[in-house]
Amino acid sequence: MASLYLNRLSADDRSTLLHELHERQGGHCFICAKTIDLQLHKNSIDIDHVIPITLNGPDNPGNFAVTHDSCNRGKQDSDLRVARIIARFDEINKSIGAENRAANLGDILKAYAHGSFDFAISTDATSVRFTLSEIGKNDIVTLPLYTDALSGFRFFFAQLPIQYIHHDGKMNPRAIGPNIKKLIKEFHIKRPQLHVALGWINTQGDGSPKIRIFDGQHKAAAQILLGTKELPVRIFVNPDLDTLLTANTVAGTTLRQVAFDKSVQRNLGSALLADRMQRYRTDRNLAEDSEAFSEQDLQRHFKGESREMKKYILDWIRSSITHHKDNKLRDFIEYGGRGSEFPLSYSTIEKTFYSFFIGSDLLSTRFNHRAEEGLNPRQLEIDQIVNLMNIIAEEIFVGKFEPAIGTSRIENKVSKGEDIPEPHLIAYRMAKEEIVYNWLRYIKQVIQMAFVNAGVPFDENAPLQKPLPTNAWNNLRNFVAALKRLPVWVNRDMATSVFGGKRNNDFWKEIFEEGQTPDGQKVLGQRLDLIKMIQPVDGQN
Ligand SMILES: [Zn+2]
Repeated sequence: MASLYLNRLSADDRSTLLHELHERQGGHCFICAKTIDLQLHKNSIDIDHVIPITLNGPDNPGNFAVTHDSCNRGKQDSDLRVARIIARFDEINKSIGAENRAANLGDILKAYAHGSFDFAISTDATSVRFTLSEIGKNDIVTLPLYTDALSGFRFFFAQLPIQYIHHDGKMNPRAIGPNIKKLIKEFHIKRPQLHVALGWINTQGDGSPKIRIFDGQHKAAAQILLGTKELPVRIFVNPDLDTLLTANTVAGTTLRQVAFDKSVQRNLGSALLADRMQRYRTDRNLAEDSEAFSEQDLQRHFKGESREMKKYILDWIRSSITHHKDNKLRDFIEYGGRGSEFPLSYSTIEKTFYSFFIGSDLLSTRFNHRAEEGLNPRQLEIDQIVNLMNIIAEEIFVGKFEPAIGTSRIENKVSKGEDIPEPHLIAYRMAKEEIVYNWLRYIKQVIQMAFVNAGVPFDENAPLQKPLPTNAWNNLRNFVAALKRLPVWVNRDMATSVFGGKRNNDFWKEIFEEGQTPDGQKVLGQRLDLIKMIQPVDGQN
């Protein structure tokens, strides 16, 4: 907001003020904390209120700060103190971006905690004792140790310096989401944290007991970013980790106490599988890295939870594909469910790709079966699904779909004559669930043809557990390329008819197989011809 104070300053007075502020801030931009050079940046410096006038910030030098003007224009909150913290968070995210993940509590702790320590405790029936010698506090603290009446888990409450806090990336594999910005604002205006973070500690293991936070990551991170040095935590002592992991997963899934999206649930199921495999090895006296047992062995061994075991195994497969480092389609998936940036919803991926191509019968072959020859059925399945997704990503989405244009009200904009670029429109339309559902079924048939032509029996229920004949990959690429050339995807007159409103799978089945809608509107010139579509087009392939 404009400043009466600044407007009244003469050029000389303004320059004096600028120098004062610059010195007060140690020569750094108030928002990004990088250097401001009064000479080099002289045409791109802003003076602004730290606390905006709308929030009763005073219009005087005590409330001014100097920033790069781009930082001030791009600021994510009108209160510069909040904007500065969000900028710091974005910076941390950027610094680990190369690892292809977003920041979690562990990254925030690394940036802010100045040290990272184990937490040695001694317990008796009703109390827990510890010191904080690593930070020079040698007093012995005694706190009550409680027992949870139903689970029998023991726990205590403590307010701990953040150097003693660690992130549990296994039990809480989520990254910190953008809603942390709201929490930063909330805590910044001095509202308290309402739910205490949850952690656990194992004092019996390898001699380096750590407090690991598995719930309350966002609140903890927001407060640390705001400068909090100690956090209240409820700490379970030597809990049964399976039970804790299961409880936390159920809280996020069945009970919906935590807003886990589906792909995170899959990730947790996959962590539970890893735990069950470890338990199986211990029970059977197998080596720690042994894979000489099968999916079915696991299911038989954990009789009491055989349905869950199957789910954990399928979660592991889905998760391995979704997060596969080579998966190019994953950048076009909307994981949250309600976003409008990416064309494919995660739920569409599950109902189409995963439901058509993941064999849901548990295998009787060992986890390491023919792994060295590259013929392990699950590994082949995962790799080949990723391959297939990559062909689709390359042909339809990469460099074509523009997240900045997104998916919001596209048909509406088309019907109003807005200039949505053709490749974007094609990608957007082809990614609709009822449409993907149909063309992906034809892709399955193209795969079937390839197997049959090579004389290999086709397994309808597990189509990709055997290596696809090599020419099949060309066929698939030709097919996707031919599909994407259908004029219907760029027909702007159909924005309100064929593409207007929600259609079901059968509607598009009819279009692909008869060339027209169920009520006779011509959409394609003719029905799809799979044989023609797998042929190379001149000048391609
Ligand atoms: Zn700056």
